[in-house]
Amino acid sequence: MVNASGFFLGIDLGGTKIEIIALDSQGNEHFRKRIDTPKTQPAPTQYQDIIHAITELVKECEIALKQNSLPLGIGIPGSESLDTGLIKNANTTCLIGQPFRDDLSKTLNRPIQIENDANCFALSEAIDGAGKHAQSVFAVILGTGVGGGWVINKRLIVGPNHICGEWGHNPLPWPTEQDAFQQTCYCGKLGCIETYLSGPGWAKQTELEHQIKLNSKGILQQRHTLKAAQQSYDLYVERLAKSLASVINIMDPSVIVLGGDLSNIDSLYEDVPKVWGSYVFSDSVKTKLVKNQYGDSSGVRGAAWLNKI
Ligand SMILES: [Zn+2]
Repeated sequence: MVNASGFFLGIDLGGTKIEIIALDSQGNEHFRKRIDTPKTQPAPTQYQDIIHAITELVKECEIALKQNSLPLGIGIPGSESLDTGLIKNANTTCLIGQPFRDDLSKTLNRPIQIENDANCFALSEAIDGAGKHAQSVFAVILGTGVGGGWVINKRLIVGPNHICGEWGHNPLPWPTEQDAFQQTCYCGKLGCIETYLSGPGWAKQTELEHQIKLNSKGILQQRHTLKAAQQSYDLYVERLAKSLASVINIMDPSVIVLGGDLSNIDSLYEDVPKVWGSYVFSDSVKTKLVKNQYGDSSGVRGAAWLNKI
């Protein structure tokens, strides 16, 4: 689409809120608004209300900017089926099975880019965030789940299966006796990386291995006074380091950007690179491990950048 205005609209559609942003090509914000995600029932009504809410947000934004038909990208917590174009794997479940892109394209009268939220995060950080100077960026979400996305030369890499960067459902590499307690992942496999490195996975693993009930926050608060908490943190560092090392061995990224709740653990950026050298197949590791720049705003900014090609 020709974008003479120089504006890019992004929408982050989540289970609790819908946010819109308008960026210019330099990444400056010109409009932003956040509303609650409609919660009407039954599901088909909620779906229609979401379509309506997004349409109204776009109209309001374009009136404020005195523009129309601006390019629009949307980040969703799910993905489109490659076979049918219908939404799958969305935790806003009323979207599942719906022709979301077609419906919105009709009501807004323009083509729309849609990507999952991990890919939007990756794009945001690679284009003008923590990875903006890097040639290749692997962006990692460490939150309630573990996901990721690849951006090379500021282009999102989307493979034929649309699963690029889904390292969370690979097995934990180089397992030892200390990794013997394996959890069953929701995907059906045993011992996925996500079951060790997501927030809930780490808490459960800590309970299995150290018989203490602490979430990640509790582990961090108590690690200097409680030996089991320190052991749990050290294991987390070791597991994150070797899981990332196996990615580095395949794609050799310039920068790895962490996002999600657990990316706020500042000590990881020092501790993990001290360990990953033991696993990376190289005499030295130049890859940088950095914290995201845009935090909660990365999803909506990345959605806007879906049209920045
Ligand atoms: Zn899994």
